[in-house]
Amino acid sequence: MNYTHETISHLKRSSPAQAEFYQAVEEVLTSLAPILESNSKYREEAIIQRIVEPERQIMFRVPWVDDQGNIQVNKGYRVEFNSALGPYKGGLRFHPSVNASIIKFLGFEQIFKNALTGLPIGGGKGGANFIPNGKSNGEIMRFCQSFMSELYRHIGPHVDVPAGDIGVGAREIGYMFGQYKRLTGRYEGALTGKSLLWGGSLMRKEATGYGTVYFANYMLNDKGDSLHGKKCLVSGAGNVAIYAIEKLYQLGATPLSCSDSRGTIYHDEGIDVKLLKRLKEVKRDSLIHYLDAYPSAKYTPVSDYPTDGHAVWRYKADAAFPCATQNELTEQDVVALINNGCTLVSEGANMPTTREAINVLLEANITYGPGKAANAGGVATSQLEMAQNASMQRWTFNTVDEQLQRIMKNIFTNANEVSKEFGQPGNLILGANIAGFRRVADAMIEQGVV
Ligand code: GLU
Repeated sequence: MNYTHETISHLKRSSPAQAEFYQAVEEVLTSLAPILESNSKYREEAIIQRIVEPERQIMFRVPWVDDQGNIQVNKGYRVEFNSALGPYKGGLRFHPSVNASIIKFLGFEQIFKNALTGLPIGGGKGGANFIPNGKSNGEIMRFCQSFMSELYRHIGPHVDVPAGDIGVGAREIGYMFGQYKRLTGRYEGALTGKSLLWGGSLMRKEATGYGTVYFANYMLNDKGDSLHGKKCLVSGAGNVAIYAIEKLYQLGATPLSCSDSRGTIYHDEGIDVKLLKRLKEVKRDSLIHYLDAYPSAKYTPVSDYPTDGHAVWRYKADAAFPCATQNELTEQDVVALINNGCTLVSEGANMPTTREAINVLLEANITYGPGKAANAGGVATSQLEMAQNASMQRWTFNTVDEQLQRIMKNIFTNANEVSKEFGQPGNLILGANIAGFRRVADAMIEQGVV
């Protein structure tokens, strides 16, 4: 029986117009084919039918007043997808592209990613179709407060613990935490990614980017190689990209690029990470200002991008780290990377590689770390933040870093072993999906039909 085909046609009827969600489900189910064939209990227990349906989906109005006194309305979401392994856990994304399909694909990915970390966290995701670009601090605060005025009744340290994602960093988490505390009267770890001054964990900010690079290094170590001396392309200029770039330098590699929604920077001497932090974390400015300090760096505006892909992937390098957003690495991009000698892709973003591009990567035997595995360091460190909050402790940077490295190594080993167990050694997308699925599905079976 072809579960993938059957499930996707069912979803297209029951949840129409959710292309990104179907894409995420198709990717997972394609990997699961061997385990579903060989193991009748998952079929008998209707695990696939249950796992693709969120336990709960919350959609709400987010009204707020802008600086001109106009009333604005956005759409808010929280999809509580699966709680077999623990409280729902996953970020909030504030971006104009957010809709039910995007939040459902992210929530679905999060189930398996969180399972893969081995930690007790379920999967969820949320956000709003809010445009953070160009908003004043006051507007951001009022939006976050309005968003939390509805969300607070659905979350809590043992229920659902949101964090950041695109457009949501420590500032937004701060405003949302303040409103949560005001409405509930409770000071508790209902959000992660908090400021270090009041309950945040050291290294949470760095964790996704660092984790992606650790993961890439573990993949190479397994082949007797390392990132040392490698030239790398990185996309994005947010939290994930910045700290991937920082860790690449620490491991002796040279990151040559970064990108934002307006353009790409390629700097053959290596990206100046201090400048990048100043531009993006402090000034919240466009990457084009990188040229003010380095006029010789190359800037490609989005309007000049190749129509079949993205400028950032059209340079010569040994490794690529997509750290921007979904479907940012197309089939043509991957062909260009391979022709330019690239042999490794490690995903810092969620579902950055299109289905066709993944097939090219697998056929070409490229060392490929899928997002669920390679970017799990962020959510894993969020769980470490939850553990610190619950025990009223604060761990050192080194303690958190050691745990992050241990978790990323376990994820690699686990996905790699499972890829061998199912006769496709090195196919980590298969390994990660099956390993994550097995943990969630077995927990669901033990907890009965709920
Ligand atoms: N948004 C991040 C992710 O995609 C982090 C989620 C979290 O820390 O809960 O995994």
